[in-house]
Amino acid sequence: MDSQIEEIKSKLNVLDVVGGYVKLTKTGVNYRGICPFHSEKGPSFFVSPSRQMWKCFGCGKGGDIFEFIKEIEGIEFGDALRLLANKAGIELKKENPKVVSERKRLYEICDLSCSFFEKQLGNSAYGKEAKDYLLKRGINEDSIKKWRLGYSPDTWQGLSDFLVGRGYAREEIVKAGLAVQPASRQGGSEKGNNPYDRFRGRIIFPIFDLNSQVIGFGARVFKDADKKETAKYINTPQTLLYDKSNILYGLNFAKVAVRKKNQCVLTEGYTDAIMCHQAGFDNTVAVSGTALTPRHLNILKRYSDNLLLSFDMDVAGDTATKKGINLAESQGFNIKIADTYAGAKDPAEIILENPGNWEQSVKNARAIMEFYFDSTFAKFDKKDPKGKKEIGKIILPAIKRLQNKIEQSHWVQKLSEKLGVSQEAVLAELKSIKEESVYSNVLLNTRIAEIKDVLPAGRKKLLEDKIVSLVLRDPGNLNLIEESHHCFFCDKTKNLIENMKKNSNDPTAVLASISKEELDGLSLMAEVDYQDDGPDEIQLCLSQLKDIELRNKLVDLSKSVKLESDEQKREELIKEFSQKAKELHQV
Ligand code: ZN
Repeated sequence: MDSQIEEIKSKLNVLDVVGGYVKLTKTGVNYRGICPFHSEKGPSFFVSPSRQMWKCFGCGKGGDIFEFIKEIEGIEFGDALRLLANKAGIELKKENPKVVSERKRLYEICDLSCSFFEKQLGNSAYGKEAKDYLLKRGINEDSIKKWRLGYSPDTWQGLSDFLVGRGYAREEIVKAGLAVQPASRQGGSEKGNNPYDRFRGRIIFPIFDLNSQVIGFGARVFKDADKKETAKYINTPQTLLYDKSNILYGLNFAKVAVRKKNQCVLTEGYTDAIMCHQAGFDNTVAVSGTALTPRHLNILKRYSDNLLLSFDMDVAGDTATKKGINLAESQGFNIKIADTYAGAKDPAEIILENPGNWEQSVKNARAIMEFYFDSTFAKFDKKDPKGKKEIGKIILPAIKRLQNKIEQSHWVQKLSEKLGVSQEAVLAELKSIKEESVYSNVLLNTRIAEIKDVLPAGRKKLLEDKIVSLVLRDPGNLNLIEESHHCFFCDKTKNLIENMKKNSNDPTAVLASISKEELDGLSLMAEVDYQDDGPDEIQLCLSQLKDIELRNKLVDLSKSVKLESDEQKREELIKEFSQKAKELHQV
């Protein structure tokens, strides 16, 4: 295993691997670019070919090619290994069976099943009907192939028997989510006691991970779709491979285009995503079987900050969709809503009718606030006092959520004009919206996400490293670090600094105690002309570390708020949170 990792590393250059995702320019012996892992304007992301490593001096992330692929593709080490082995043209030897076998066998089961379903589509009489259904919906042969669409025959054990014939145990098939274990008392029915196939008589949409490996399935009825007792869609339940809260359907095909176009179009259905890609809108993904989750947003954030939603959304409802959108909004995503015209057609239907219409919808997408205004004013009568009240109830919290005061005042003005009431009245009403409703749990989560976001995990470590590297350049800087600062450091840095103070005549002697990777990081940091050395820089680092302390306290505080059930105590905690948050901006 280790030797294969080394072999892959020897065949692939960090410059080529990283360069496939990030635009790099040469600076001295190193290369620099805009970090793909945090949002920044100036490039603080460096690649060192001589050390075969990358490092961002903005967010602190760094490592070798494996770390990079894991991070940027959002995958685990095993998958990164497979991906890079493939790129290097190396066939992986049998991996440690204990570690990988279960996951690997589930991948195999999913892939085999996918091929099985693909073969059935168009094969039997029903399979033909299934295919005709897809073609009629406008999905062409190329798309059927690309998305590996299939048909699951209407039998209880067809797939299971096929997989057992290939050497897989029935319980593994259950674990992959493809078969269902009947409750023990159900024996004697036509299903028998054996697990039975989960998907029967349905059109199959395989669900891929970011490497286009099949990890689950969505299945749709296409005959008697109106029968009430059958669910139109069913999906693979949570398995070792599949978790709907972090899967965006089609992102494997869309990720490059999303980055390139710096926008991600979100739809609700599998067919929407497929039809959009077919029509050339290849930056489209579908959120399927669930609302937008914080994990989805974290994944999307890696690719683009701009979301274009084509959901059917009820502005007045307190729906999961709306919560997801609020969440995205307060995480700093720029959100637009596609203009799906009357009849509430979905993107697939619009494209089937005329792809040009969808292009128009995307072009005419409205900013989220515009959308709130348009749909709320369409829903209530603005002349009626009751209607005015209802409109305010929906729009004011959205305005209150805006972080920017100028933007806020713009919408206050607009609301007062449209309602025909004074701005003072709108402002008074805005003020009266309790902070509590703004700090609902969802938003509190967001504040935490925000705090963490400004503050990627590696930032603290990076600041500590920076201080160490500045001391290494000029041992005189050591005097600037006072005893009271030591509490900002992790134990390791604290020891290092204390040791350096003891050996102040030769602080570099202390370096013998740290690992090669760390030394590489510190040397690269000292090498690139990224920072001013000197007292100011150290002071800046120290004050930023203090800031981090404060943020950590805020995170703890917000956790207590969520756990507190007593209304009054909760409000006190929220007050404390707000005060501390203000302090933060003064640091
Ligand atoms: Zn970064």
